[in-house]
Amino acid sequence: MTKAATIIPVTLPTPFDVGPVNCCLLIGDAVTLIDSGPRTAEAREVLQSSLKENRLSIKDLDQYICTHYHPDHAGLSKEIQEAGVDTLMLQEAVPYVSGDSAFLNWTDSFYMDLYRSFGVPDSLGRLELLKLKKYREFLTPFMPDLTPLPGENVRGHEGFVFLQTPGHAPDHLSLYNEREGILIGGDVLLPHISSNALLEPPALHEKERPKTLLQYRQTLQNLLTLNLKTVYPGHGDPFEHAHDLIRKRLKDQNERANTIEKMLTDEPLTVFDMCTRLFPKLYEKQLGLVVSEVSGHLDLLQEEGRVVKAVEEGFIYFRKTGAVQ
Ligand SMILES: [Zn+2]
Repeated sequence: MTKAATIIPVTLPTPFDVGPVNCCLLIGDAVTLIDSGPRTAEAREVLQSSLKENRLSIKDLDQYICTHYHPDHAGLSKEIQEAGVDTLMLQEAVPYVSGDSAFLNWTDSFYMDLYRSFGVPDSLGRLELLKLKKYREFLTPFMPDLTPLPGENVRGHEGFVFLQTPGHAPDHLSLYNEREGILIGGDVLLPHISSNALLEPPALHEKERPKTLLQYRQTLQNLLTLNLKTVYPGHGDPFEHAHDLIRKRLKDQNERANTIEKMLTDEPLTVFDMCTRLFPKLYEKQLGLVVSEVSGHLDLLQEEGRVVKAVEEGFIYFRKTGAVQ
């Protein structure tokens, strides 16, 4: 007899602006932990005591599944793996979590060059890279033991499959149970904030960066076709009516794209020009998020043929399609 899955959210503190992160214990024929929190003493302690409350220790886990490489979700993965627990992530996570220095250097120079072409002052760009380096320190590098394929069944949890849900992160993975309408969604859909489709580098030695907002919108469209009753998000409380929230997120993106298009009536602008106008209070503190937000919506506008870009002396300028040059 297979046991019905019990889902126990485990909330851990993080030192990040996003606030606490939700991991999840999935208990059925197997005991599975989903996500692990950042590498901090506080998160480690709360994780251990939460397991203990359920009469478990890390060694009792049959497997550990990580939704995506961000350190608030993946930070303690290595410690769990070292306790002998099978560790699963999508193949796309490998360059991010393995500490591959060629890929990390590639990523850093990609951001520096991209920020420059977006008109970001070098001093701000360098500061953002420093923040990224510090952020990475909340994750101990590791190599996943298994890389499941999308659509594959989750071992020990009948009815649950792995779902590829890219956009917020290129390796983003969710667990889905169609019959029960349950999505253990990591950061794919959050109740109180929109998930940022963060800028990501191309794969090593490739040219085209992924259009992460377009990927994310496709993921949201895919989710709209699914039976979704309850979503267990990576931040915030479990929620229902996910389809309404998805439609709101898509609508908000369309509205933001309209706002950006309207800014482009008079003169060609760089991404940084638009960041300072749209987010005058945020752009210095949250440069990475703000640049991702603006350039993602410009990708969308370009895809829809509503803006064009031109490169002049190393800077990328955007203007409205049909505007006088
Ligand atoms: Zn994330």
